[in-house]
Amino acid sequence: MSEFAIQISNLKKSYKNVHALNGVNVNISDGEFFGLLGPNGAGKTTTINILTGLVFKDSGNCLVFGKDTVVDYRETRSKIGIAAQELSLDWFFSIEKLLYFQAGYYGINRIDAKSKIDELLNKLGLEKKKDSKLRQLSGGMKRRFQIAKALVHDPDILILDEPTAGVDVELRHELWNYLRELHSKGKTILLTTHYIEEAELLCENVSIIDEGKILKEGSPKQLTEELGKSGVTVQLSKNTNINNLKISSLDQEYTVEDSRVHFSVKNPELAIPKIIQELSSKDIAIYSIKTETSSLEDVFLNLTGKSINE
Ligand code: ADP
Repeated sequence: MSEFAIQISNLKKSYKNVHALNGVNVNISDGEFFGLLGPNGAGKTTTINILTGLVFKDSGNCLVFGKDTVVDYRETRSKIGIAAQELSLDWFFSIEKLLYFQAGYYGINRIDAKSKIDELLNKLGLEKKKDSKLRQLSGGMKRRFQIAKALVHDPDILILDEPTAGVDVELRHELWNYLRELHSKGKTILLTTHYIEEAELLCENVSIIDEGKILKEGSPKQLTEELGKSGVTVQLSKNTNINNLKISSLDQEYTVEDSRVHFSVKNPELAIPKIIQELSSKDIAIYSIKTETSSLEDVFLNLTGKSINE
């Protein structure tokens, strides 16, 4: 079996004169927690809809565990569970019944489906609501149901399209914990998000997408170190003489504003001990130290010149 769960190469898609995807390339390893991060309209949903057979591509390829998603569509689709943004299900059955229907689509009989469905209802806090109709559920409950539905056939890959959009903070944290648990058990997870925090907290690797193109990929740490703007600001007492100060081990000049010295460094954690050591050795008293860690938001801003939520 391929070491990659998902390989997307040079994927293109246009809607009339809208170029939704302009040659998207993404590789996701088996067992990876991966984020497709970009603003609204970037092409995230189009990418996963092509991957899961909901939208036709214009050109390019999608492979799932080495198998083409068009040629071997039955096999590749069986490996994926998708929690889409929009619900397109019968609103008149109980959610438990809907989960049994979903299992049936994958050829799983009632007896075999039962333990999985019971487990998912329990894990996602839906047990008490299992006899409710979908339309009777709150927005957050509907989200949980969508994730349960995506997992009924125990797929190797879970794809979540904006899993926590419009979800309150408490539920967001619950869902994140559950996704972490699934990942720790080996599931490959692909989520799309325009929440920087979500990508930073959960994803091992992210691809930043904008206007149908991948702009950059890497771990959140790599990207923020490379393209962010982090630093250490040291507050000294007024009138301290810091002429020609250079922290040799940092290979880094500083900027001074009043009695604050700012060092632009990629990794504040590593820089702080060196700064303290050097200043102490020169008998320069430190009043306080503040670190500025950059986020993927800075990275996005740096790459595109705009905020991700613009
Ligand atoms: P995202 O998921 O990142 O918000 P989408 O993949 O939904 O972005 O959309 C990418 C672009 O394609 C947008 O400009 C969107 O308006 C356009 N688009 C998506 N689906 C359709 C469609 N069915 N018909 C026309 N344009 C579409």
